[in-house]
Amino acid sequence: MTSSRIFVKSKQMIDLRSDTVTLPSSEMRTAMANAPVGDDVFKEDPTILELEAYGAKLFGKEAALFCSSGTQTNQIAINVHVQPGGEVICHEESHIYKYEGGGIAKNSGASVRLLPGDRGRITAAAISKWINPAHDVHFPLTQLVSLEDTANRGGGAVYDVAEIAQISSLCKALNLPLHLDGARVFNALAVNGLDPAAYGAYYDSISVCLSKGLGAPVGSLLLGSATFIEKARRVRKVMGGGMRQAGIIAAGGLYALQNNVERIPLDHLHAKQLEQALNTCPQIQEVVPVQTNIVVAILKDASKRDIFIEQLKEKGILCMAFGPGMIRMVTHLDITASDCEFCIETLQKM
Ligand SMILES: *Cc1c(COP(=O)(O)O)cnc(C)c1O
Repeated sequence: MTSSRIFVKSKQMIDLRSDTVTLPSSEMRTAMANAPVGDDVFKEDPTILELEAYGAKLFGKEAALFCSSGTQTNQIAINVHVQPGGEVICHEESHIYKYEGGGIAKNSGASVRLLPGDRGRITAAAISKWINPAHDVHFPLTQLVSLEDTANRGGGAVYDVAEIAQISSLCKALNLPLHLDGARVFNALAVNGLDPAAYGAYYDSISVCLSKGLGAPVGSLLLGSATFIEKARRVRKVMGGGMRQAGIIAAGGLYALQNNVERIPLDHLHAKQLEQALNTCPQIQEVVPVQTNIVVAILKDASKRDIFIEQLKEKGILCMAFGPGMIRMVTHLDITASDCEFCIETLQKM
C-alpha cells in the first residue's frame, strides 16, 4: 500500500537549504490534475501552449519554450546563440559556468571569459574590455553576454537597472546577444520595481525558473523572439527534452506565475529577519547584506561550519554549506512567519 505520507509535506523540519524544496499546494495540484493535455512535440498540449503564451506576453517576448529545468533553458539558449569556438562572457561565479556541469564546453564547444564583479554582477565597463576584436584571428569570437539576476553566489544580489541598460545598449550596438539567467527574476523584479516587459526588453533571451520560489514542482521557461524559440525548440529535441503530455506539469508552472508572484516580498521580509537574528548570533562574523530571499552568513570560526549546520539541524532547521566558513539560508513560499520566528529564537539561543 502506498503511504499517503509521501503526499504530505514534512512539518518537522524548516527547510532553508534552497527555494527549490517547495512543495505544490493542494490548489496547484488541483490545477495540475485538471489540466487539458496533448502531445507537446506535436505542439498539441493546450496547457503548455497557454503557459508559453502567458510567459512570453508577461516579459514582452514573441515566444516561449517550456523546458525541464533552468539548466536546460540556459544551455539551450547558449547553444542557439553561440557557435563552437565562440566565447561567452559571464561572471566567474555564474550558475551557467559553475553549476551546469561544464555544459558550455560540453554542449556548445564554447569558450568562456569569466569576469570578477561585486556580488555576482558584472559591469558594462568590464564587459567592453573583453569583447574580442573580430578581425583578429587569435581571439575566440565573443558571441554572448550572460547576466544572472538575482545572483545566487552574490547572496541574492539584484542588478542596478541603470547598469543593465548600459550592458544592453553596449550589446545591441555590437550585435551581441544578451541572455538573462533569471532563475530568480521575480525576486529581482520585486526589488527593482520594474514591469516584467520593461525589464525583458533589455534581453534577447530569458530563462525563468518556475520551480524555485514560485513553488511549481518542475520546469523553466525560455523566452525570446519567434525565430530564436524556433531554433531553441530544435535544440531541446536534440537534447532529449521534447516532452509529450507535459501539460500536467506545465499547469503547476502556470498556476505559480498567476498566483505566487505577488507574495515574493514576504520571502524578502523573512530573509531580512533571519539576517538580523544571524547578526546577533555570537558564532557569526558577518552576514552578506540581504537584498532578496538569500541569506549568506560567514562564521567566525570557519572550521565550525559543519557543526553549526548540524546544531541547527538538531533544532529542526536545515541550511546549506555555501563555501568555506559560509552557510546559506533561502526563504520561500513554504516558510511561514512562525517558521521564521522559530528560526530567530533558535539562532538567539545558539
Ligand atoms: C537554480 C538555478 C538555475 C537552474 O537550476 P535547475 O536546477 O537546473 O532548474 C539556474 N541559475 C541559477 C542562478 C539558479 O539558482
